[in-house]
Amino acid sequence: MSDCCRSNASAKTREVCPECGSACISVGMRTLYHQVRFPENQAITVDSYFYCSSKQCAVGYFSCYGNAVPKQYLRSYSEIQEDKLCYCFDIDADQYLSALKANRAEPIKDFVIQRTKSGECACEIRNPSGQCCLANFKYLEKSQSQ
Ligand SMILES: [Zn+2]
Repeated sequence: MSDCCRSNASAKTREVCPECGSACISVGMRTLYHQVRFPENQAITVDSYFYCSSKQCAVGYFSCYGNAVPKQYLRSYSEIQEDKLCYCFDIDADQYLSALKANRAEPIKDFVIQRTKSGECACEIRNPSGQCCLANFKYLEKSQSQ
């Protein structure tokens, strides 16, 4: 597994988004530098940031010291709006949901699991949360089974 997927729960901390109140997970500077577009990426203050995954919220990254990056500054902004499920392999939530309904979801998820195990994913820089995309599959499946 690549680092982003292995170190998940342990080192991550949580903070509430000052804008929308969602619980947000910490994210490393490496993710910010790859996610924030030019020229805004030139002016990021080094800090401990959290990512707000709420699609409607204008805040992308924020720190406890008042530093913030609007979601619109992120390179993955349009993907966030389209409910991207896997940022590494370009799979939309809609596509995966229709695969689930048609009983074709297993091979898609297996592909992502395999690539992740081989260290061929890029969640830390592609996924704006810096988290492993496989977590998104679990959330989606859980939301479907309710
Ligand atoms: Zn928010």
